[in-house]
Amino acid sequence: MNTTEKKIQLKGLTLTELQDYLISIGEQKFRGAQIFNWMYNHLSFDFREMKNMSKELLQKLTDTCELQTLNLITTQDSQSTGTKKYLFATHDGMNIESVLIPENERNTLCISTQVGCPLDCKFCATGLMGYKRNLTPGEVVDQYLLAAKEKGKANITNIVYMGMGEPLLNFETTLKSVEIFTHELTKGLSRTRITISTAGIAPKIKELADRGLRVKLAFSLHSAFEDVRIKIMPINKKYSLKENIDALKYYANKTKTRITFEYTMLKGLNDRMEDVKAISKLCGSLPSKINLIPFNSIKHMSPGGISSQLEPTSLKDIHQFADRLRDNNITVMIRETQGDDIAAACGQLAVKTNSPGHNTELAQE
Ligand code: SAH
Repeated sequence: MNTTEKKIQLKGLTLTELQDYLISIGEQKFRGAQIFNWMYNHLSFDFREMKNMSKELLQKLTDTCELQTLNLITTQDSQSTGTKKYLFATHDGMNIESVLIPENERNTLCISTQVGCPLDCKFCATGLMGYKRNLTPGEVVDQYLLAAKEKGKANITNIVYMGMGEPLLNFETTLKSVEIFTHELTKGLSRTRITISTAGIAPKIKELADRGLRVKLAFSLHSAFEDVRIKIMPINKKYSLKENIDALKYYANKTKTRITFEYTMLKGLNDRMEDVKAISKLCGSLPSKINLIPFNSIKHMSPGGISSQLEPTSLKDIHQFADRLRDNNITVMIRETQGDDIAAACGQLAVKTNSPGHNTELAQE
């Protein structure tokens, strides 16, 4: 092979895709399952580790294929909570972040699906950095594989698609990565340990239900009123709350799962008594629970407009708000802020990049 020719990226291929590829280069189908197992179960990033394959095949693969899509640039540990942030570089000099969050017996890895995000939610640092591109399936999967290699695979018990980007706008890639994470050959995670979080792309929520993966679904609600939601989440102009709630009902019904509503508490904007009433009505209309999230500062992004006016609801008021919701029989959790000292908390992921050479500079710095 001419060395200037682009190598085939095997990371991110599903079992069927790998089998088809092996057949297309004159090899036997079962080799696909072997490589699948090496990549995703044994966390191999080097063909030389693949002991059960002939020398000739390994040479052929080494010459024509690649096994790694991301480079781990650095990690940062939160002193207060044990949260760990991973900064990765892509082949084209972009940066993305993942966050590992320890919580009792669980270790949840929060992964990204896009470089930046096109949705421009006013409270979110990733939104403020703008949108660069979708991640490839390999880049989504490698966030997990590289973290698992460092931490030990058994030590990552859950995956949440709550990092940078909107997973349902990188739909096929997100689905492929779920297929890989949960495949029996990868000795992977159960679907109940995977949560996809969306700002509300209603038709894709329905399609997700129809595709039968039955992962947990989280919906970023943030206001039960259309007019308030539009102010802080411009995507609500395209897909209204009503449309999304219909889609969520469809999802809950079809998958027999409970929807998690995420609700970042913003002082004076969505923490009023009328919000309690509206949320209670909405949550009462489908199997669901609500997570109240303290607003994490995005001041490190020096935002303008409405973003600069957003203030957190105090923890005391969040607890009172939760109690009022519980009075109405709503299941409520208050999410603890994890890792805000390293800008790794919800909505704080943003990397000032994306020109080669400046790709290790974090936005908070
Ligand atoms: N695009 C997806 C996933 C990424 S955001 C989504 O919108 O759901 C993951 C969660 O963090 C969302 O619920 C989001 O609304 C919340 N979030 C974003 N910025 C935040 C901030 N500054 N403080 C607290 N939560 C935030």
